[in-house]
Amino acid sequence: MNENIVVVGGGPVGAFSSYFLRKSGNSVKWISGKKITNSAAWSSAGLVGPGLSFPLPDYEGLKGNMKWLFRRDSPVRLGMGFMLSNLSWFSAYSRSRHKILSESGKKSQYMLTTGSMKILDEFVENYSMGIDIVHTGLLQTFKTQEEMTKISEELRKDGTVKFEVLLPEQCLEREPALGTKKLSGIYYPEESSLNPRKLLSEMRRINRESGIEVIENDIESVKMNGSSVKHVVSGGDAIKGDEFLISSGMGSTVIASMFGLKLPLAPGWGHSITYDDVKERPHMPVEFSEDGVYAIPMGNSLKATSFFEFRGQSFKPPAERFEYLKRVMSDKFKFLDGIEPASKSSGMRPCTPDSLAILGKSSKFTNLFWATGNCRQGVMHSGEMGRLASILIDGGKIPEEFDLFSPSRFSV
Ligand SMILES: Cc1cc2nc3c(=O)[nH]c(=O)nc-3n(C[C@H](O)[C@H](O)[C@H](O)COP(=O)(O)OP(=O)(O)OC[C@H]3O[C@@H](n4cnc5c(N)ncnc54)[C@H](O)[C@@H]3O)c2cc1C
Repeated sequence: MNENIVVVGGGPVGAFSSYFLRKSGNSVKWISGKKITNSAAWSSAGLVGPGLSFPLPDYEGLKGNMKWLFRRDSPVRLGMGFMLSNLSWFSAYSRSRHKILSESGKKSQYMLTTGSMKILDEFVENYSMGIDIVHTGLLQTFKTQEEMTKISEELRKDGTVKFEVLLPEQCLEREPALGTKKLSGIYYPEESSLNPRKLLSEMRRINRESGIEVIENDIESVKMNGSSVKHVVSGGDAIKGDEFLISSGMGSTVIASMFGLKLPLAPGWGHSITYDDVKERPHMPVEFSEDGVYAIPMGNSLKATSFFEFRGQSFKPPAERFEYLKRVMSDKFKFLDGIEPASKSSGMRPCTPDSLAILGKSSKFTNLFWATGNCRQGVMHSGEMGRLASILIDGGKIPEEFDLFSPSRFSV
């Protein structure tokens, strides 16, 4: 409180952190990065909900779904070169996978999601945010009934998430946009979605209006004085602060190296296409589990996202990734046949080897904090990540369930 805080990173986590830090009386400089499109959220599906707050037993659980790695058209990719040069990350990933699936890991992830959902609803009410948030639930479809039964049994055993099993005709009733497709499904009533691009631009507006100085640039270097951070350099200017928060998604790894630290984040690349002004669209988000594709209505637009591929940060996604998305979308929704997407984009999910976020004070520098590593949940976790980061920076305590996220586990 009453301190000068520098927040680095213009994605949803940096946006909410800046907001809450300002709200508690600090003077905040928010270095939001060169381009709004550099946030992974720009390409994201914007799904928000308890069922998605920890890895569902779907294609993203690499270990349990090896079949994806051997299919030629698979949306799950593992660059061999990347894997070989990141063996330590992959070995930590395979060793610690159980943590996220443990009761404590699940509980803390769940708390991040439900806390954020509450914050998002309050924001929509208080700031009339035009983020097209929809509380329609999510439909997950399957090509075979066996596959659906397997997943529903796992969900039943787990008992955390509300769901409803649908036979093909019930699926169609629930989502008529599926046309003649005969797909079994699972309906998750508690899931919501929002337009993440609007979230990013609305948060810039709200933060500016609340008196935050927004610096639309990257940081190039940092200056330390013993074990404290003196300033960061952005656009040639030294930006001083009492405390510094790094919430820069995958960019946090580059910034960590400026401090001489190694932050173990791997980029989980994902891609998206967006159709604008479509006359027909599903009225709720649909996950086509067999294709690994999500279709999400956002106002007058329809977005499709897919892929989880581990590649280097300089990876240039080839055109075939977007072609795959187009093919699946026009197969599922006949009304999209012959229609070209208005935009295509890709982003890097910042993934820790234990699938848990990194939140808290640095174990190496006295006035440095981290809020990152939210992998495939950074939109749905962002509100609560930001609120908790601001409490910690203000010297307060957060519930012990979040101790699991401590940066000290990676010595950063
Ligand atoms: C295809 C796809 C689908 C997804 N679907 C979902 C979903 O449905 N739900 C969900 O919750 N999440 C989803 N995600 C994940 C989500 O987008 C990320 O977890 C989230 O964006 C991470 O937020 P962040 O603020 O930590 O980082 P980012 O959003 O990546 O933002 C990082 C910010 O840091 C800035 N930055 C980087 N380097 C520097 C620097 N040197 N100086 C200053 N600024 C810098 C960047 O410009 C950017 O503004 C998806 C991601 C992808 C790619």
